[in-house]
Amino acid sequence: MIEVDRRLCDVCGTCVAVCSSDAITIRGNKLVIDHELCVNCLACVSVCPVGALGEGK
Ligand code: SF4
Ligand code: SF4
Repeated sequence: MIEVDRRLCDVCGTCVAVCSSDAITIRGNKLVIDHELCVNCLACVSVCPVGALGEGK
């Protein structure tokens, strides 16, 4: 399950643009990942410039 580390994420939107499942949205000033839509393609993980995305613990 992909999780965002909010301490690192600066809400740049790069991951939102690459998610072909539309699983990532920005609500307020926070990134939200819809795990029902996410297909674990990891595209978002590789494009995040600050390494804020990864498989959850
Ligand atoms: S690409 Fe990284 S820093 Fe940018 S919004 Fe996504 S998780 Fe946050
Ligand atoms: S792993 Fe793929 S489907 Fe899931 S949030 Fe990231 S880009 Fe979207």
